[in-house]
Amino acid sequence: MSTEAVVRDQTVIAWLTAAEAAVSDRADYLTQLDAAIGDGDHGINMTRGFAAVGKALAGHGTDVPPGRALILAGKTLVSTVGGASGPLWGSALRAAGRSLGDAETFDGEQLATALDAALASVVDLGAAAPGDKTMVDALGPANAALRERLANGGSIADATQAAADAAEHGALATVPMQARKGRASYLGERSVGHQDPGATSAALIMRALHEAVVAEA
Ligand code: ADP
Ligand code: MG
Repeated sequence: MSTEAVVRDQTVIAWLTAAEAAVSDRADYLTQLDAAIGDGDHGINMTRGFAAVGKALAGHGTDVPPGRALILAGKTLVSTVGGASGPLWGSALRAAGRSLGDAETFDGEQLATALDAALASVVDLGAAAPGDKTMVDALGPANAALRERLANGGSIADATQAAADAAEHGALATVPMQARKGRASYLGERSVGHQDPGATSAALIMRALHEAVVAEA
């Protein structure tokens, strides 16, 4: 039997770091999307939240198990982001973290289960159904694509690539939808013809996951 220690997986830390960079790089775009059908703060909210996550993680070094890192990130988002996206992403990341538990590493199935738990907690908190023009319209297809690719024998990297692609398609597919949840729903039919900001940032975060998986492989 090997006595070699299992190397603690750094993918989640790399994911959160990549997500911080992605939302900050696209902050103006996210804010423009939110200005059209919301209150124009989505880029600011996500940038502030993920910057705080970066700081919180830095305080713990990289020696934190993946599930713990996600729980810390989730708590940080809840406490630093005022908009709807803070509690929603906060509960999503905490649920994903609880799902991974204290394990040092995780496989594709455990990642799929964690992402399903994240989505379930968003739905639990925000009660959005598919087609309501929210982040659920990016995350739902992403998780389905991830599971499908794993079931077909794909690697974690294949699966996260499929998930990121599906999230981007899902975000684009929100354009013709009428918003039924969140601030954009106040606009009724006038929300049609605009891409949902939360679905757009969700796609950025799923792309960041793929980049992290590839970088840490
Ligand atoms: P706020 O709407 O409070 O200003 P943000 O601008 O940060 O918050 O986030 C807006 C995004 O949050 C929306 O584009 C949508 O994707 C998401 N969102 C809002 N309400 C819900 C909900 N009930 N369920 C899921 N996602 C939601
Ligand atoms: Mg807003």
